[in-house]
Amino acid sequence: MNIHEYQAKEIFTAYSIPVPRGRVALTSDQVERAAKELGGHCVVKAQIYAGGRGKAGGVKLIHHPEQAQDFGKELFGKRLVTPQTGPEGLKVRRILIEEAVEVAREFYLSITLDRETSRYCMLASAEGGVDIEIVAARSPEKIHSFAIDPTLGLRPYQARKLALKLGLTGSICEDCVTLMLNLYRLCLEKDCSLVEINPLVVTRAGWLLAMDAKVSFDDNAIFRHHDYPDMLDYSQLDPLEINAGKYDLSYIKLQGNIGCMVNGAGLAMATLDVLKEYGGEPANFLDVGGGATREKVAEAFKIILEDTDALGVFVNIFGGIMRCDVIAQGIIEAASEVNCTLPIVVRMDGSKVDEGRRLLAGSGLNVQSADSLGDGAAKIVAMLKQDAA
Ligand code: ADP
Ligand code: MG
Repeated sequence: MNIHEYQAKEIFTAYSIPVPRGRVALTSDQVERAAKELGGHCVVKAQIYAGGRGKAGGVKLIHHPEQAQDFGKELFGKRLVTPQTGPEGLKVRRILIEEAVEVAREFYLSITLDRETSRYCMLASAEGGVDIEIVAARSPEKIHSFAIDPTLGLRPYQARKLALKLGLTGSICEDCVTLMLNLYRLCLEKDCSLVEINPLVVTRAGWLLAMDAKVSFDDNAIFRHHDYPDMLDYSQLDPLEINAGKYDLSYIKLQGNIGCMVNGAGLAMATLDVLKEYGGEPANFLDVGGGATREKVAEAFKIILEDTDALGVFVNIFGGIMRCDVIAQGIIEAASEVNCTLPIVVRMDGSKVDEGRRLLAGSGLNVQSADSLGDGAAKIVAMLKQDAA
């Protein structure tokens, strides 16, 4: 789960990590007022669930409150397209106005989960700033990192070693050690999958400051934090993803044209792989989970059909806990309700598979049954080709 920069900075403040003074605005008048309060000379920052805003025109240095108001007007409602948003961009609904900081040096600092070691890993670089991705690709040796032992936690000497590698000395080095220890405590206590400060800066006046802040929470830990759901900004999410969440379904949007309904994450991965092998491109995948009901299958199917990129649907379900006739009923119910004429291929196996197939065959839908995963992938790809011809 993502949150906005201003929310991440509120959490930073609670953990004694210094951030620039700032205010959040929901209207351009508030932008002006906040700019006045900060003395006119400030930075206006679009709040969206993506980085790369600086280069995309979402961050601007402002010299007068009126100029801030004008920029606010321009930003509100605009869809900001950055390298991290995809071509549709994300709508700006909130703006952060901050004191303009004079920068002496910029760094990159983050803690994230390393899947190789199954541990939190701290990363830092004295080069990069907004171009950290380029540094990672061209000269990875400039990025320092180490895995944190979960039993011992981050030790001050490890943080100091890293701060020294960044070229920090004296009191700023010690400030950086404290900041790193606080960041790790935050990461653990708030169940984060990522905390990132890019850039972490030393100001001209000689203070260490988190100029940007990104915090992502681990979705599996949300049940432990009752305040997290209220922090969500639904304007930043795909409406189909929100809908899927309501029914406890996992929906992931992809770039192709075949909607995929599966049960279980492993089967989903296998389905996408085999589909690609046969020349198909998934538009999305929706995992209905283990023991779904007919209603849940129907909702899932409708969500897939609402994705206008989906020109056909591939269902790959193993009826273990879930019976195949129930799956078939759910598909028929949803497809009939929305008058679906798209080609559908259903590969299912397990309990009551013959009943399920019989129901589908008599449904009047544009549906074919498949005997195996490969057979199903080949069939849906062929049906789409036929449609396109
Ligand atoms: P993003 O990572 O989305 O591009 P940042 O918050 O990192 O957004 O801002 C982009 C750039 O804008 C920063 O690298 C910095 O140069 C500048 N900037 C951001 N906030 C401030 C600030 N408070 N004072 C001065 N410059 C800022
Ligand atoms: Mg940044």
